[in-house]
Amino acid sequence: MPDLPFSPADLLRLDREHVWHPYGPMPGRTEPLLVESASGVRLRLARPAFGRTELIDGMSSWWSAIHGYNHPVLNEAAREQLGRMSHVMFGGLTHEPGVRLAAKLVEITPEPLRHVFLCDSGSVSVEVAVKMCLQHWRSVGRPAKQRLLTWRGGYHGDTWQPMSVCDPEGGMHELWQGLLPRQLFVPEPPVAYEETYAQLLRDTIARHADELAAVIVEPVVQGAGGMRFHAPEYLRVLREACDAHDVLLVFDEIATGFGRTGTLFAAGQASVSPDVMCLGKALTGGYLTMAATLCTAGVAEGISRGEVPVLAHGPTFMANPLAAAVACASIDVLLSQDWQAEVKRLEAGLREGLAPAGELPGVREVRVLGGIGVVQLDHEVSMAAATEAAVREGVWVRPFRDLVYVMPPYVTGDEDLERVARGVCAAARAG
Ligand SMILES: *Cc1c(COP(=O)(O)O)cnc(C)c1O
Repeated sequence: MPDLPFSPADLLRLDREHVWHPYGPMPGRTEPLLVESASGVRLRLARPAFGRTELIDGMSSWWSAIHGYNHPVLNEAAREQLGRMSHVMFGGLTHEPGVRLAAKLVEITPEPLRHVFLCDSGSVSVEVAVKMCLQHWRSVGRPAKQRLLTWRGGYHGDTWQPMSVCDPEGGMHELWQGLLPRQLFVPEPPVAYEETYAQLLRDTIARHADELAAVIVEPVVQGAGGMRFHAPEYLRVLREACDAHDVLLVFDEIATGFGRTGTLFAAGQASVSPDVMCLGKALTGGYLTMAATLCTAGVAEGISRGEVPVLAHGPTFMANPLAAAVACASIDVLLSQDWQAEVKRLEAGLREGLAPAGELPGVREVRVLGGIGVVQLDHEVSMAAATEAAVREGVWVRPFRDLVYVMPPYVTGDEDLERVARGVCAAARAG
């Protein structure tokens, strides 16, 4: 292929012919927007779409770009690390960015989490979390404890173990029936605290304690499984029941971590700490792919007691120094500002801006928590119509199922936030 610059039309043709997109058919049936660059909260398009060349990103690139794009501090951290090395293997070698990041994560996460496994993506961090739990019980002589319990409506990633704990009605379970590990499910957690549901959690954990390795949930907010919120008190119920019955508790904070719900981690809303925690998405401020699985000393000690006393997992790009350096910078940027005030500001702005959507025909509910705004329709959204309506307002959203939702970068200014809300309302009206 000649090394000439590609025109936008060339790129889109090649994209269609060769490139898979998330959850997409091959060849693609819809044309993606071609992004040329991004800065602050704006995506710049290579050619206009519905009269717009700049879009305000309401999605933070799927929860990750919390500080916006092209951030000077994150850029500098990447540049500085690039001048040293972008990667070295982590087997037998170590390096400052990886060690610093691990220490930072231990410092800012709930107290008993002590050990950190740095890996490449959220799904892999969930695989590692599950492996940790299963291996822990096998190593302490309770190999029958192999199953996972979760509530419906969850999302934990697209690789095998994570898929097995995603909402069974999301399609993937039907597709892979008989092949996915068969996990235990309880109904979706109610929005408000209900004692009957809490009792169901306790009873299910008690009844299946002999075969349960762990309970795994997204705390407070279920993200890609349906954008639902629930009472933090359920986390305490899970903690107590898990402790009472020798079951490990895993919090998947890949979406909720780093302030999105109003506390640094959603676990903080119930002052509960898990045995294992998964982090990802906003970990590197949306710059590079990296995730982390943290565990307590107890989980690690169990594994060390086994016949095979090691955690048998070691991705090629484990603890990638470039990603780790940017992650350290992103955490520093977050903690050096009054991020809680920023998230509260987003919450207030989204509440006000999305309220009109509640009056629209076809809208079932509008809900806002922290920096997350959701409009739920009473029908499947027409993705093309909703996207077009938002783009005409100069806003990027990515609706799915019956949901139009946003989680804007924390640096989104008030005027831009108003525009994001207008974009969501327009998408809800059109979709
Ligand atoms: C996105 C997400 C994952 C998967 O992360 P990837 O980096 O996409 O593999 C897992 N759990 C939750 C809660 C997520 O939001």
